[in-house]
Amino acid sequence: MTYYKYPKFFQQSDSEAFDTLTNPGAVTPHSGIYRCEGCGREVVSTQGHVMPPQNHHQHSYSQGNIRWRLVVGHN
Ligand SMILES: [Zn+2]
Repeated sequence: MTYYKYPKFFQQSDSEAFDTLTNPGAVTPHSGIYRCEGCGREVVSTQGHVMPPQNHHQHSYSQGNIRWRLVVGHN
């Protein structure tokens, strides 16, 4: 889960960046906090760097592959 204290530092966005799933090991499309769709684990990644790989953490069969979704972005 992500947390913040002061809402004034955040702005709601309808950007499609939050609807796109990024594969493990892919180039990070936007800097920010990413959440794994399978298990909810979160990581920070920087645009142009590489997303954590498929073996970053283990999933049960029902959780499927790691897929990263941007939950908090910045630019
Ligand atoms: Zn996961």
